[in-house]
Amino acid sequence: MISDTIAAVSTAVGEGGIAIIRVSGPESISEVAPLFRSRIPLTEAESHTVHYGHIVHPENGEIMEEVLVTVMRAPRSFTTEDVVEISTHGGVISVRRVMDILLQQQIRLAEPGEFTKRAFLGGRIDLSQAEAVIDLIRSKSDRAFSVALKQVNGSLSQRIGQLRQSLLETLAHIEVNIDYPEHDVELLTAEYIKDKSRDVMEGIERLLKTGTQGKILREGITTAIIGRPNVGKSSLLNALARENKAIVTDIPGTTRDVIEEFVTINNIPLKLLDTAGIRETMDVVEKIGVERSKAAVNEADLILFVLNNSEPLHEDELTLMEQIHGRQVLCIMNKMDLPPKLDKDILLKYFDESAIVPMSVLEEEGLDKLEEAISELFFGGKLESGDLTYVSNVRHIALLKKAHKSLQDAHEAAEQLIPIDMIQIDVRLAWEQLGEIVGDTAADSLLDQIFSQFCLGK
Ligand code: GDP
Ligand code: ZN
Repeated sequence: MISDTIAAVSTAVGEGGIAIIRVSGPESISEVAPLFRSRIPLTEAESHTVHYGHIVHPENGEIMEEVLVTVMRAPRSFTTEDVVEISTHGGVISVRRVMDILLQQQIRLAEPGEFTKRAFLGGRIDLSQAEAVIDLIRSKSDRAFSVALKQVNGSLSQRIGQLRQSLLETLAHIEVNIDYPEHDVELLTAEYIKDKSRDVMEGIERLLKTGTQGKILREGITTAIIGRPNVGKSSLLNALARENKAIVTDIPGTTRDVIEEFVTINNIPLKLLDTAGIRETMDVVEKIGVERSKAAVNEADLILFVLNNSEPLHEDELTLMEQIHGRQVLCIMNKMDLPPKLDKDILLKYFDESAIVPMSVLEEEGLDKLEEAISELFFGGKLESGDLTYVSNVRHIALLKKAHKSLQDAHEAAEQLIPIDMIQIDVRLAWEQLGEIVGDTAADSLLDQIFSQFCLGK
């Protein structure tokens, strides 16, 4: 495949003292060369060298920018192609001037993720590593960042590789014995398939077990703050956001009627949903209280159920408690600074003592207890020592489940002594499904879909 020359700004626009424009493609050096005036012509520059000079207008030779240009020749570059990196002054105008000139040539603007896609196509990284680059770009906490980083370095790929190797051996074994119709050989082969498929299934199960945690780390624990109007939901959300550095995210907000706020509590990213809204103006919406809460409750990993300790339990609150029974709930008795009128015994019918948190958001009492309860609920405080090979991607989880199912079919077939050439199909299927995780058997449309999730310039 011949690829054309692509360019994009690969640093955040408007930030920092310099910006880097990355140009990639087999012709990238010869295409940038006429635009760059320096001591050594760019076409003669050695790989991995940096050159001071000026970007000049190709027609009139006018100096447009003072820049540093780095040359990385194939295959020793991120994309495995020839790459030219142009460092300009950081301002938007400076970057635009250089980009304009580049794009007037045979160079086009890269699509989001196109650099990473070329790295994948060039065999530089596998698909799960490419997806981890997406996670790196988006990761919302230090922990999520280190999980993603580990995946870039290939720890998930490595595990998948081991499982696939084991299946490949099984396939080879089947291949060898398929031509021996003797009954005892057939029996032995069936036993062998049963053992191997069970092993690999267990390996998949171990990876899947980390899947939920991985999902939480990637997207944040979806946390719904629910309760009747005026109990203090918005106050609580504001207090949590104030205390815990709100995380900046570049994922566009969804268009639902709830307010989302990202916070990290003890390194755990939470996506807080105020079922009514952060701003007081949103409190009109809040009057629909219970209905709105229902929707948020359904998608929540964690529910913060807020009650007003200075009022008796309301009928709506009983309804809510019935509805959220059996879910991960922390019940917050707010407004403890006021005279108590709430009967805690009723609450104890629905919640464990440890899940009930007395608070006064107004006087900032009990916030630490709530934060503690949250971390204990999810990680038992043990996350620090945990294994960081998380499966953090919905696509990976789905494929792992498919492969598991295929192996289960193979295992059952072997048990029922179904002819081994039939069983072979299921084993091969599992091998392919695992391969899709690392991009070994991925179709083109899938690739496009994955890489389009990237930001420009990556
Ligand atoms: P929401 O309707 O559930 O979102 O409740 P708000 O957060 O808007 O709070 C309703 C009212 O209760 C506001 O006037 C808050 O200042 C007040 N409030 C919130 N928390 C407390 C608290 O712990 N103690 C007292 N006395 N008032 C509180
Ligand atoms: Zn509110």
